[in-house]
Amino acid sequence: MTDTTIFKARKIITMDPNCPEATHVAVRDGRILAVGDERCADGVGNVRVDERLSGAVLLPGFVEGHAHLMAGGLWDYTYVGYHDRTDPDGQHWPGLTTIEQVIEGLSQQAQKLEPGAPLIAWGFDPIFLSEERLSRHHLDRVGTDRPILVFFSNLHLMCVNGPALGMAGYDSDSRVEGVVKDADGQPTGELQEMAAMFPLMRRLGVDFRHLAQRESAIRAYGRMAVRAGVTTMTDLFSTLSDDDLAVMLQITAGSDYPLRIVPVLGAAGGQAEELAARAKALAAQSSDKLRLGAVKLLTDGSIQGWTARVKWPGYVGGQPNGLWNLAPDQIFELCEVMQREGIQMHVHTNGDEASEVAIEAIEAAARKHPWPGHRHVLQHCQMMGTDQFTRCAELGIAANIFANHIWYFGDQHAALTIGEDRARRMDGCRAALDAGVRIAIHSDAPVTPLGPLFTAWCAVNRQTMSGRTLGAAQRITTLEALYAITMGAAYTLKLDGEIGSIETGKRADFAVLGEDPTAVDPKSLKDVPVLGTVSGGEVHLT
Ligand SMILES: [Zn+2]
Repeated sequence: MTDTTIFKARKIITMDPNCPEATHVAVRDGRILAVGDERCADGVGNVRVDERLSGAVLLPGFVEGHAHLMAGGLWDYTYVGYHDRTDPDGQHWPGLTTIEQVIEGLSQQAQKLEPGAPLIAWGFDPIFLSEERLSRHHLDRVGTDRPILVFFSNLHLMCVNGPALGMAGYDSDSRVEGVVKDADGQPTGELQEMAAMFPLMRRLGVDFRHLAQRESAIRAYGRMAVRAGVTTMTDLFSTLSDDDLAVMLQITAGSDYPLRIVPVLGAAGGQAEELAARAKALAAQSSDKLRLGAVKLLTDGSIQGWTARVKWPGYVGGQPNGLWNLAPDQIFELCEVMQREGIQMHVHTNGDEASEVAIEAIEAAARKHPWPGHRHVLQHCQMMGTDQFTRCAELGIAANIFANHIWYFGDQHAALTIGEDRARRMDGCRAALDAGVRIAIHSDAPVTPLGPLFTAWCAVNRQTMSGRTLGAAQRITTLEALYAITMGAAYTLKLDGEIGSIETGKRADFAVLGEDPTAVDPKSLKDVPVLGTVSGGEVHLT
């Protein structure tokens, strides 16, 4: 007979209303056999009590419904972002808040490299720096004996030094779009978007798919997850070639791998029928820890990059409206085909015009091909108001809301992008819940750091970097936020029957915490220590 392990804890918060709190959970074959007190598994045969978690507070393993595998792979490069971050191995990287600090940080890193080896960095974000723009001249001070390449945090721009410009063949004669030039016609070192960036990345052997799909990146993703209490995480725009899939299936099959991954197939172009066929073929290959079959649609860009599509009155600085990554007619076509074929969609919408088009497209598809259980999800939902959330509730659309933006970019949104009035309603968790929408909240790692308790803190407090509360009316309670990072996110992945709460029959996935997040001051929610996770009954402590 199979052994049963009983984990004893200081407290177990289950997210199951039938038994909200417990002290013991019995696990067999990676699943929850019983929940309750020390007698919860009486009469089931051999029982082993595991005391390792007896001082800890257990919650359902956190579910990150919007992140990217690249968050693991980027740590192979040097972090030069404005905010402090912790890498997958727990090393703390202090934020670099001036260009001088960035130059200093890069110089230190250069000394650790072989002569001539490229120095590649990531996370730089000029929106937080009021000084001059980063240029090749700054990076040439770090060194001209090697190519130096600094990715901006959005990964749509980079700045490089003179030798790197030389490798790409960029000079005053270059006519490539996105090679930024100064008043004298010389490249500044800044390269914008893929046409300008790719030739150099190719020369240096850097590509985004490789950043995400190699074994070291997938393993780093798992270590990051353990540190954040996460047991299920998406990769929300995956290319998913057969080779990628084979690597992911093999790594996640190991009982030592601590994470369920939900890779979502990205719609890069408008080939709806091919995308649907591929999504269905992938769904058939799902395993316990690799869940396939959904697709991701990109609509607009980002608000802080002024590339999101926003409704009247547009951006407060008079910038032109943003751009469509998929044109509205392509969005309508993709929605119709996915709906017809029974494929769940995750639809990226930052601006309120993009949300409107996505809602219209899903409604049109639903009229042609009724499917009450589609559970399509709008991702980010940053500018949506009550009217749009109400339509989501009517149509059965869930919302995964980018709560971290309030802290990271809230001040910039109020001052620079959409103004105080619309910034107050941004990432409106309260409006969504009151309209009857099922919600999750997310980090979009690596855009902001993975950490569901921090994300919950953002939704509960709505504090910005300057320390003020932005949009007090949109705050939600600690319990609502904890639900959003467990059952709420599980719902958006159609995994709420398997994960998201601690109840009999579900996977034995737990977040192991040092304090009770429902007992601390809501202002301290982000500071509750994460000690590790239990994934499928296996304990992983940091
Ligand atoms: Zn994303």
